[in-house]
Amino acid sequence: MKIHEFQGKQLFKAHGVPVLRGIACTTVDQVEQAAIQLGSPVVVVKSQIHAGGRGKGTVFADEAGTRKVMDGGVKVVKGAAAAREAGAKLLGNWLKTIQTGDGTKQVKTIYVEDGCQIAKELYLSILLDRAAAAPVLVVSREGGMDIEEVAHHSPEKILKLHFDPHMGLGAYQARRLGFELGLTPIQVNNFVKTAQALAKCFIETDADMLEVNPLVVTINDEIVALDSKMSFDDNALFRHPDIAAFLDPNEEDAAELEAKKHDMAFVKLDGNIGCMVNGAGLAMATMDAIALYGSDQGAFPANFLDVGGGATAEKVTTAFKIILKDPSVEAILVNIFGGIMKCDTIASGVLTAVREVGLDRPLVVRLEGTNVAEGKKMIAESGLTVIAADDLKDGCVKAAKAANAYRIAKGIGPRPALPTPSAIAYIPRKVRKSAEKVRKSGSPEVRKSGGKPMAKTKIVAKKKAAPAGKKAKAVMKKTGKPTKPVKKAAPKASKKPVKSSKRR
Ligand code: ADP
Ligand code: MG
Repeated sequence: MKIHEFQGKQLFKAHGVPVLRGIACTTVDQVEQAAIQLGSPVVVVKSQIHAGGRGKGTVFADEAGTRKVMDGGVKVVKGAAAAREAGAKLLGNWLKTIQTGDGTKQVKTIYVEDGCQIAKELYLSILLDRAAAAPVLVVSREGGMDIEEVAHHSPEKILKLHFDPHMGLGAYQARRLGFELGLTPIQVNNFVKTAQALAKCFIETDADMLEVNPLVVTINDEIVALDSKMSFDDNALFRHPDIAAFLDPNEEDAAELEAKKHDMAFVKLDGNIGCMVNGAGLAMATMDAIALYGSDQGAFPANFLDVGGGATAEKVTTAFKIILKDPSVEAILVNIFGGIMKCDTIASGVLTAVREVGLDRPLVVRLEGTNVAEGKKMIAESGLTVIAADDLKDGCVKAAKAANAYRIAKGIGPRPALPTPSAIAYIPRKVRKSAEKVRKSGSPEVRKSGGKPMAKTKIVAKKKAAPAGKKAKAVMKKTGKPTKPVKKAAPKASKKPVKSSKRR
């Protein structure tokens, strides 16, 4: 879950991170009052949307972004009247930034903040490095609105440091970074305090991302968080009702919110095949299979949806309605492997939803498992035009083709083909493990022979087959040597084949 800048700054403040005074407003009157209340000669009027790059963004009067109002969603102004004027141009209008993609976001809240006398703009963020299983602190002396450019053109100016999530960020670690950032000793001392407080805030709130750009050095050598961007691990939100309350429904996907209300795992994606599946693993596999088998038809999943094991017919109805509401869905694939979830429950839910909202798009159903006969019978007797699929591949191919048929019928024309994702062959665990060992330490044979490589073992990737026939002759002519058959090059390889069915 993401939160707004002003909400992030509340969390910063609670964790001892220096921030400036500010007031969140939703009306122009409030903006003016806030500027008066702060009483600073310079205040900053900041649009609150869940996207960065506001300072360099463009404000439009319409959602489509055709009627430009002004440049910049962050305005530094002098006095309450100017604050009101800036607020009037931002509130209710639409902001397009480098992070809003093709769309725009409506500004519904403004944060009025004290103006800051900036000496230097730094960059700081904390992320979870899953590979290192630790948080990583990322800093740069080139902070400010062009950090993306810095990362792109001079990555050496970005410094990274991992820290222990239990111990927190050590003062010695922060101090070293402070000096590497070119700060003076007084500034380094302040940097250590701010960086440690930010690290504490990151850990204690179960955040998965925290970004402060710019983290400024003021003319008084203080280190202040001038911006704030945070997102949190949804699975840990139950531990933080205060943060969960920060959720802004205006910023969330409507379908995802509806699914969340009904305790369903739903993620909106940008494809055209709506998927209803039971079980997260099967849902993931179904998405992969659509991308793989439907690529020639330009098919891609429109959503991830796991209706869960113990879903009722009502829940299935809701799920189906959520899928149908999405205008980008051009065909629906129901893929149910009945276990705890019974196929007839799914059938009943789908039929109820169709009866309530109608079915204007092709529906492909693949049912298997508990009560499959009953489920299939219910659908067959319903009079619905359902395309039955024999297995997952068949379902994906049929859904992809049906989606294009639907488009053609509507006069849109088929989707352009997508590149076929490469399928990764399954490698049994035993083989994978020994290959990993060899990669790390050199093969056992290499060690035994004192470094002299011996014949390759079975775990080494399959050798390129020796050329045969005409090709072999051509190679011989070129090299003057006969081509060796593969078997001789890999002795013992075939003697003890690994049983892939054992221990996965
Ligand atoms: P974004 O990252 O979305 O563009 P920021 O909050 O970083 O938004 O603001 C953009 C720029 O505006 C900052 O880089 C900074 O130069 C300036 N700025 C932001 N807040 C203040 C403030 N309180 N006082 C002075 N300048 C500010
Ligand atoms: Mg910023």
